[in-house]
Amino acid sequence: MSQISQLLLYQQKDSELLKIEQEIAGSEERKKYAQTKSYLNKASEKLDKLEAQSQAVLKHLDELNKRYAEISETLKDFDHLDDLMESGADLSFYQRNISQLIEKIKGLKAEIAALTASAKETTEEYQSMRKKVIAAQKQYPELQNAYKNFKASKQEESDKITGELSAIAKDIDPEVLRKYQAKRSERIFPIICEIKSDRCSKCGIELSIADKEKVSAGKVVECENCHRILYKA
Ligand SMILES: [Zn+2]
Repeated sequence: MSQISQLLLYQQKDSELLKIEQEIAGSEERKKYAQTKSYLNKASEKLDKLEAQSQAVLKHLDELNKRYAEISETLKDFDHLDDLMESGADLSFYQRNISQLIEKIKGLKAEIAALTASAKETTEEYQSMRKKVIAAQKQYPELQNAYKNFKASKQEESDKITGELSAIAKDIDPEVLRKYQAKRSERIFPIICEIKSDRCSKCGIELSIADKEKVSAGKVVECENCHRILYKA
């Protein structure tokens, strides 16, 4: 049982450390820093994507413009239709050909216009994002420093607590302490809880028959539901 009182003492001290950790994690300094960091990561991916998108559109546009030029060139051949007619050629055949080409060129024109608009949109999105990224990059070192300084301002206090924890830990079974730390890293807190009326006082689950026997024998058990370490006072 002295293990338990020592563990409870440890946990009590540890809660002070946890408070500092939570204060740092919940601070405006950390939030602003973390937000900007994650924004910059995402933005750089997005910028790469926009750039690739823009390259693809430009390539497609280039192809369409080439095809447009080719058809325009073919249409020039029909400038001499009068001569052809005079030589007794089948006029309706040429007319059909011309109207097909004109339809094609109309379609191409529309496609080129749509792509040009899309390219413009992509470029504008890229530019506006780049501006924001540059602004965030400028701000980043400042935010990083503010966060670092805030953490540093708590260092002395947390070092003092860590020292006190080490002193208490000397009287605790290393295996038990390892278990405690594992739970602590899983964000379970408090870790050591009292058994009240054969139930975990934290989550209310009743102990199994086997665990009740262990507790009667003076042993510590683990809650089957919330996995806290349970003891009987
Ligand atoms: Zn529980």
